[in-house]
Amino acid sequence: LSSCTSAAEKEMGGAEQREKQYRAHRGFGDRRGGVISARTYFYADEAKCDQHMETFLRCIDASSGSSEDGFSAIKLTALGRPQFLLQFSEVLVKWRRFFHQMAAEQGQAGRAALEMKLEVEKLQEALANLGIATKAESQHWFTGENLGVSGTVDLLDWNSLIDSRTKLSKLLLVPNMQTGQLEPLLSRFTEEEDLQMKRMLQRMDVLAKRATEKGVRLMVDAEQSYFQPAISRLTLEMQRRFNRDRAIIFNTYQCYLKEAYDNVTVDVELSRREGWHFGTKLVRGAYMEQERERAAQIGYEDPINPTYEKTNEMYHRCLDYILEEIKHSRKANVMVASHNEDTVKFTLRRMMELGIHPSEKKVYFGQLLGMCDQITFPLGQAGFPVYKYVPYGPVKEVLPYLSRRAQENRGFVQRANRERDLLWREVKRRLLAGSLFS
Ligand SMILES: Cc1cc2nc3c(=O)[nH]c(=O)nc-3n(C[C@H](O)[C@H](O)[C@H](O)COP(=O)(O)OP(=O)(O)OC[C@H]3O[C@@H](n4cnc5c(N)ncnc54)[C@H](O)[C@@H]3O)c2cc1C
Repeated sequence: LSSCTSAAEKEMGGAEQREKQYRAHRGFGDRRGGVISARTYFYADEAKCDQHMETFLRCIDASSGSSEDGFSAIKLTALGRPQFLLQFSEVLVKWRRFFHQMAAEQGQAGRAALEMKLEVEKLQEALANLGIATKAESQHWFTGENLGVSGTVDLLDWNSLIDSRTKLSKLLLVPNMQTGQLEPLLSRFTEEEDLQMKRMLQRMDVLAKRATEKGVRLMVDAEQSYFQPAISRLTLEMQRRFNRDRAIIFNTYQCYLKEAYDNVTVDVELSRREGWHFGTKLVRGAYMEQERERAAQIGYEDPINPTYEKTNEMYHRCLDYILEEIKHSRKANVMVASHNEDTVKFTLRRMMELGIHPSEKKVYFGQLLGMCDQITFPLGQAGFPVYKYVPYGPVKEVLPYLSRRAQENRGFVQRANRERDLLWREVKRRLLAGSLFS
């Protein structure tokens, strides 16, 4: 739990000002609760993070050695103190909410994220009235590269004002919508925490460079919603640097999140504007039970779609948007990471309709090792690029993950039965055809 709280905050009592969702919570210190299909890392110390990085490096080397077209997946919680991810997530979310608040004041509430465009003049007035920045001060925020072509400010322009590397430790005030008080966007880090943050970014850098050298695509897994804004943003910053010629870094979007479509569309638009290759793994999301329980207990809005059907709709909507993007620019890439047969069928149908051929290798499929071979193998045989997620690392560390999944996943047992039935059917068919060993 202490790895999720900041020493500087403890000294200054700043933790009380943190938004509920982004506060460390004793009851949820063990983040494994209800999680079936993802491994959980806990912060021990910086040396352990270095060890994880070494394992990831070996994994990248192994992927490059076994295939010309390999992927490796990493988790950012393995590479640093999660407290930094919590705090940075809070900053990003507060900053985005502030944008929505400004948009509402300009009569644009309820629009899709990309449709909100703030008039600079009015925005500067509002900032001055709120006591955040005088017109003279905010003048340089909205010039040149920080201002959209149309002379308005949209969410992308707004987000570009926050940069994890250069401006993160600068104190900025934003209004708290509940209390009306101005609050620092970010509590200060101690010197040691600042160093821990930098080391985490350096580890990511080392991995991205090795992946580029080896021609292996690096997927950054999505994790809990209170870490995810930071994970996604840091991944996006890697994409900007490493995806100029091809998609090396893949971000992950969880479609069980209510905000998934906004996240996907905003990031695709950024890749278009800046000209880099968009790469994504699309999943439904592995932490639903834990997320719901945490939101209910701590008392903030549940970030997950209300029903399974809504999540399915969201998945197909996001996927369709990316497939359309592939059709138009051929710069986007997607891994459909799902065991859901309807989703796989939906993808195949839309690929055909949009004229995206499997051999172009823009659309990949992914399933977890030991699950859904009845989907994986036919896809592979039909020429679609399809991958298995294989846990990699010391046996004593990956075995508990595998056995946990096998024990806990009721769907796994059902699917295993289905696979067994299909295998029996095939054996019978071959026996009857007299071709069992052909
Ligand atoms: C290759 C691969 C990589 C993955 N990487 C990640 C990752 O980086 N991060 C991550 O979080 N997960 C990851 N997952 C796990 C994934 O998010 C899902 O938990 C898992 O694949 C089950 O979803 P499905 O699409 O396969 O199948 P389904 O069985 O059709 O979907 C189950 C999922 O639907 C959603 N759902 C179920 N009931 C409800 C409900 N009542 N309301 C709202 N939503 C509901 C949940 O997300 C649940 O996990 C990965 C999975 C694969 C195959």
